[in-house]
Amino acid sequence: MSKPLLTCDAAVVGGGPAGLVAALALAHGGVKIALLAPLPAHADRRTTALLGTSVDTLRKLEISDSILQRSAPLKRLRLADGTRRLIRTPEVTFDSSEIGLDAFGYNIENETLLAVLRETLGRYENLRVLERPAARVEAGEEGARILLDDGTEIQTRLVVAADGRNSLCRASAGIHTTKRALPQTAVALNLFHTRPHNDTSTEFHTESGPFTLVPLPGLRSSLVWVCTAKDAERVRAASDSELAREIEAKSHSLLGQIEIDGPRGIFPLGIEIADKFAANRIALVGESGHVIPPIGAQGLNLGIRDANAIAELACATLAEGRDPGGSDVMEAYDFTRRGDVRSRAVAVEMLGRSLLSGFLPVHMARGLGLEIASRVPFLRRGLMRGGLGGSLSGRGHSKIA
Ligand SMILES: Cc1cc2nc3c(=O)[nH]c(=O)nc-3n(C[C@H](O)[C@H](O)[C@H](O)COP(=O)(O)OP(=O)(O)OC[C@H]3O[C@@H](n4cnc5c(N)ncnc54)[C@H](O)[C@@H]3O)c2cc1C
Repeated sequence: MSKPLLTCDAAVVGGGPAGLVAALALAHGGVKIALLAPLPAHADRRTTALLGTSVDTLRKLEISDSILQRSAPLKRLRLADGTRRLIRTPEVTFDSSEIGLDAFGYNIENETLLAVLRETLGRYENLRVLERPAARVEAGEEGARILLDDGTEIQTRLVVAADGRNSLCRASAGIHTTKRALPQTAVALNLFHTRPHNDTSTEFHTESGPFTLVPLPGLRSSLVWVCTAKDAERVRAASDSELAREIEAKSHSLLGQIEIDGPRGIFPLGIEIADKFAANRIALVGESGHVIPPIGAQGLNLGIRDANAIAELACATLAEGRDPGGSDVMEAYDFTRRGDVRSRAVAVEMLGRSLLSGFLPVHMARGLGLEIASRVPFLRRGLMRGGLGGSLSGRGHSKIA
């Protein structure tokens, strides 16, 4: 009996948030696509602060209202020195209204984001979803072939590799990565608290990295705590009540009494960047192309910009009757994403390392730089816009109900 065969213009491999956004953006542009999205083995308890360009993409896909209604707006960003060092940085608060925005971004639980994205797939008749993994990917001059574990074959011209950090598609494209481990670990968890967060995200700079409380809807917040591997082990082993007391003390009771909401995720930090972002009909989107530490909420925001970029290129190429996986498209995609990804990775690494440094002049420079930037209006506005991932529309986002 012959095996099932599916033909399409583009196939997206991976049903994480970057893959789902890429699939929706391609389908929205009228591309005939297949999405390989095996259901995840575990719930993703992390949260994502969606910044400007991501919100623009979600608006284009007509899902920004459903997503923003389930998110908490980040209207203010407070930076506080949580170290015991000799030179301490003064506290600085940035307000999104200073740059004409309702919010710097919107924090949402990944499970909620994924649910809305998955629900939206049903809108498109030109989008076929298969809940199976790709077992083999082969790309050649004329097209690409994806084989599933049940023997189904997909023939396509463009493969969007959104299959995460251990990407099979990336290996099939012959793309290597440059990788380095960082001496830090992130602990991520969600909290209930008794005092309101007032839509303010607070980042305490500690000797081992940022300890960041990010609002969620209601009296809840997420915490990303960058610390040493030893501290992360201690946090993993602590009881909920011990951990709640420690977080309350570290955050100077800013949010009142703390209660732990759900399990803790432990993520050893590192940076891994692909040497190229596309080759042989395979374009890397999300963590298949870049893994960066959760400092400054850049990871998925970059992934959503990747998804938007490949969808725009593929739609434009198909509209001209050309091949969406041709070498000109691969080169254009690589060129478009290279600067954004590399500059964000460098900035995140520098920020992480500057906090670790025991060298006094580094703290003086960081403290002084922040102080000057926070007082000089145009520097202050530049700093705020810079963190938002480029072309944030200063048009103001729709208000949350
Ligand atoms: C603690 C923490 C906090 C973070 N906070 C933020 C934040 O605030 N803002 C932000 O922008 N980013 C943040 N990030 C980064 C963000 O979480 C990641 O960038 C994002 O989850 C990566 O999404 P992805 O879709 O690229 O990869 P993944 O979520 O890993 O998805 C990959 C998918 O591919 C599938 N897959 C794998 N192999 C195959 C195959 N062979 N065939 C088919 N499918 C396959 C997997 O099942 C999976 O569903 C944070 C990260 C951490 C660790």
